[in-house]
Formats: sequence, C-alpha cells, structure tokens
Amino acid sequence: MSKANKACPYSKKCGGCAHQGKTYEQQLQIKQQKEQSLLGTFSKVLPIIGMENPYNYRNKVHAAFTKDKKGNIICGSYIQGTHQILDTAGCMIEDEVAGKVINAIKQLATDFGIKTYDEDRKTGILRHVLVRTGHKTGQVLVIIVLGTYVFPSKKNFIKELLKKCPYITSIVININDKKTSMILGNKQKAEYGKGYIVDELCGLSYRISPKSFYQVNAIQTEKLYKTAIEFAGLTGKETVLDAYSGIGTIGMTAAASCMKVISVESNKDAVFDARLNMKSNNITNIEIHVDDAGKYITSLARNRQTLDVVFMDPPRAGSDKPFLNALLTLKPKKIVYVSCNPETLARDLKHLTTNGYNAKKIQPVDMFPWTDGIETVVLLEYK
Ligand code: SAH
Repeated sequence: MSKANKACPYSKKCGGCAHQGKTYEQQLQIKQQKEQSLLGTFSKVLPIIGMENPYNYRNKVHAAFTKDKKGNIICGSYIQGTHQILDTAGCMIEDEVAGKVINAIKQLATDFGIKTYDEDRKTGILRHVLVRTGHKTGQVLVIIVLGTYVFPSKKNFIKELLKKCPYITSIVININDKKTSMILGNKQKAEYGKGYIVDELCGLSYRISPKSFYQVNAIQTEKLYKTAIEFAGLTGKETVLDAYSGIGTIGMTAAASCMKVISVESNKDAVFDARLNMKSNNITNIEIHVDDAGKYITSLARNRQTLDVVFMDPPRAGSDKPFLNALLTLKPKKIVYVSCNPETLARDLKHLTTNGYNAKKIQPVDMFPWTDGIETVVLLEYK
C-alpha cells in the first residue's frame, strides 16, 4: 500500500474527492464501515480490495472549457454541485497522459485564437475535451466537443496537436450545441485514427467508442471481474445472463467457463462495440440484445427461459422492480450483483432476500480512491 499520501492543491474548491486530507488507509476503513452499516445485515462484508498506488487511475478524463474575466482560457472540472469550471491541471486521480493532452489543447486554442463556447449566448467554439486512454494498450482517444459546426483551421489544429502529443491514436470531433449537462452531442466524426480505443481486460481485448461505458479504473476492474467470476463458480454447463452488459466485458470474461451467455444492454453504441468485441475475441457462445434490461428479462420470464447464473451490473440508480420481479420468477440458482452504489444495492438486496434469496458473500472493491464511491460484488443464492 502506498505510504506517501499526496496532497491535492484543488481539494478545497473542487469537491470531487470527499476523502482529501485523509490517508489512503483511513479512506479504506471509512468505506469498509459504510459497507458494513449498509450491507452487514445481509452477510459478512469481506475486507475491501484497495489499490497499491491509488493515483492517476481514471482512464476517462473530462475537461470543460471557458474563459476567465481577463479572457484567458481555463479548463478543468465543474466544482461539485455547480456549473463553475475550476482549472484542475495535474489532478491526482486522472490519467497523466490525458492531462498532457488537455493542456496541449488549451495552449493551442490560445495560439489559434479559438474562443470557448458560451452556452447561454450560443457563441464561441470549444466546449469540452474528453480523453480515454487504454491502460494496457496505451492507446489515446481525444474527443473535442464543439458548440458549433464551424472550426476554422481544424486541419492545422489537429496537425499541431499531433505534433505536441504524438502518442494520440485517434481524434474525434463531436458537436454539442444543446443547452445540456451531457458532455457529448449526437454528431461526431473521426478526424484522425479509428474513432475508438482498444484496451485489454482479463486477457481479452475490447474496442471502446466515445459513448460506450467502460469502467474508469482498469486495474481494479480486473480484480472486480475476477471476484464476480469466482463468486459465480461456473462449471461449463450454465446458461448465464449478463444484464446491463455495456461493451460486453463481464459476459465475455465468463464465456469460456459456461455454456452460453445472453447479454442485454440499452446503449446502442455499447452493443455495437460488444458485437465486434465478441468477434475479435473469437467468442461464439454469446447472444447480445439491445433492450431495457427490465423489459428483456420480463420477456425471458414469460418464455420460461432457464437461467443458471445472472450477473447484473446496473447504473447508480440500481435495478428496477420489473427486472427484480422477473428475476424472482426465473429463480436463477445464483445472482452475482455488481454495484457502484451501496445504497441502491441495499434496497435491491432487501427485495431479493425477502423473496427467496440469501446473500452469501459481499466483496467491496475500491474503484474510486479519494472519492466516496465504492464498488461491491454480492453473491446471492436461491434458498
Ligand atoms: N457491465 C458493464 C457495464 C456496467 S455500467 C461493465 O462492467 O463495463 C451499466 C450499464 O448499464 C451501462 O452500459 C448502461 O448503458 C446500461 N444501462 C443503463 N440502464 C439500462 C437499462 N435500463 N437496461 C439495460 N442497460 C442499461
């Protein structure tokens, strides 16, 4: 475990990291206690799996752009709970290469006289930059989000950016001219490279498009998936559901140890990636569906589909009643619930454990050091 605890110069203003000022060991203890109080009644909570080096783990880095009172470009994170941008260059949880790219874009925008976008007046050009990096492959995808279709000297800008940052493997221009808190708009085009990155997890490779969900901490994700697969105890004979499957990572990691995987995910871009990922990894025993997980599993319950194991990895809001009720009709022997929010996890566990399931193991994983986020894997078995 890292003994040196770096101090963040932005912590007082930024608000992104709830645990600044504490040691990493103290944070882990606090997270362990939180899990114990929220989930301890369901089963024993195993000791949280921490990071060796809990810095610069975020492989997806976002910087919003604006100008200060003097007209100088500033870029960085929104101050927690506001729409105010704080220059957070060198943020200690973000990927360092991504930080260099964002800084280079800031300098170039100044050199080229490119104005930042003003969403109230609908003037200016540069709105956000999003950088995704492949932990194992080192690939770097840069998404430059503009508030307008007009980008004077685009070609030269890109040429200069590649000169400053020759490790960039792809550049996408995305247009977002709506007044919205969403970073990416609907129109985008790869101006350099393939328009996505490839990364590797648990021995498989994945293409990741700008809008597809990908876990932000690849080092801890491998530990998370290893735990989830171990909890499932697959023997090679099972039919498995991977619900809220993203680009297909959990199902593909499980595919070699079971008979068949059915994946369901609502984001079309992620499913597009998932289908290509299945092919590039030579996996043939997965069926992938674009659908709302609750609707899809309800149709499986109606058709009396046999499911032996269900992996479910919903977003922060947790799962919904249609999904949980269909799950209770299908009665898989095992449910492996992967959650990024222990509060909604506790709510869903209550529903499942009062309707025939026992929680057998609870494993917290620290995917988001310095912030208050906790990832949890729970094994449930039908009584
Ligand atoms: N298991 C994946 C993704 C987890 S994130 C991984 O480990 O990478 C949660 C995923 O649920 C996202 O990809 C999101 O697009 C998807 N999602 C959100 N609501 C959904 C719904 N109602 N039905 C199906 N998928 C949903």
